[in-house]
Amino acid sequence: MSFFPRDLAAPAPAPGLSIEWEEANCPLCSGRRWSPLVEAPDVGVAATGLWFAVVQCQDCGMCFTNPRPSAKSIGQFYPTRYAPHQSTNREHGRARRRLFYKRTGGQQVGWHGEGRLLDFGCGGGGFLKTMHSQGWKVTGLDVSAPTVYRVRAETGLPVLVGTLPHTELQPESFDVITMWHSLEHVHAPREILREAHKLLVPGGKLMVGTPNIDSLPFRWFGRNWYGLDLPRHLTHFTPWTLPLMLERTGFRVGAVRLVRHSQWLRYSARLGRSDRRSPYWHRWLTTGPMARLVTWYSYLTHQADCVVATAYKQ
Ligand SMILES: [Zn+2]
Repeated sequence: MSFFPRDLAAPAPAPGLSIEWEEANCPLCSGRRWSPLVEAPDVGVAATGLWFAVVQCQDCGMCFTNPRPSAKSIGQFYPTRYAPHQSTNREHGRARRRLFYKRTGGQQVGWHGEGRLLDFGCGGGGFLKTMHSQGWKVTGLDVSAPTVYRVRAETGLPVLVGTLPHTELQPESFDVITMWHSLEHVHAPREILREAHKLLVPGGKLMVGTPNIDSLPFRWFGRNWYGLDLPRHLTHFTPWTLPLMLERTGFRVGAVRLVRHSQWLRYSARLGRSDRRSPYWHRWLTTGPMARLVTWYSYLTHQADCVVATAYKQ
């Protein structure tokens, strides 16, 4: 049986790419029975033109990219101009800080600075910089070496190259770990979460933000939904599967909330303009006011396109 989706029947690599493909098991339950969900091309900054498939596990409902480039090959889909690695994006930093404090509920005054915070997948370092200015003792971690060197030079903050586990990070040495749009990029999310669990002090907090594939924008835009970002997104979470994975890796799950992004809706609508199969009315959503209105509707009906979960080390 070929596991390549229809448009990948003959996966001719784009010029200059040498891709090693692998078939994935379900990242949540390790199951091998799945149903096709959607196929979409790489339209991100790499824009290789290759098509990828997202499948859904028949046992637990988790969605994941399958087949996928191996961990060795995936770097080819992150060119140097990949936006999250580009600069210390201040707006991202501020937005994530707002989310961070909102989710702590204002109950734990001690969380406002003074704590040790690890940002896994820190990218351009916007959040690190913001939290450092709030009094946090921050550490960043990212797989992109050029990005890490630049953030170090620009901010002077301790940022490490690599992933988890990392030899320079000691068990029970962080009060908080954040993963802003990074867990969906890794090949083995359960292993990353288990390692994060080891790094936290007892009672320590983990915050994970990812796209929500069980969202109105995904149902409307399908393969043009901005949150798919294939093949860089390997696991496609929902407000149900993200907490399940957190529980199965030893965490106690706290609040799970949805976050709206009207900009994502506009990007999705723009992508759909060049797709002849898109309904005409999607074009209306490229305008700011319409996009904001629909984004609010999706948020109020619990179908917004990002999910943020907080979890605690028992
Ligand atoms: Zn599964």
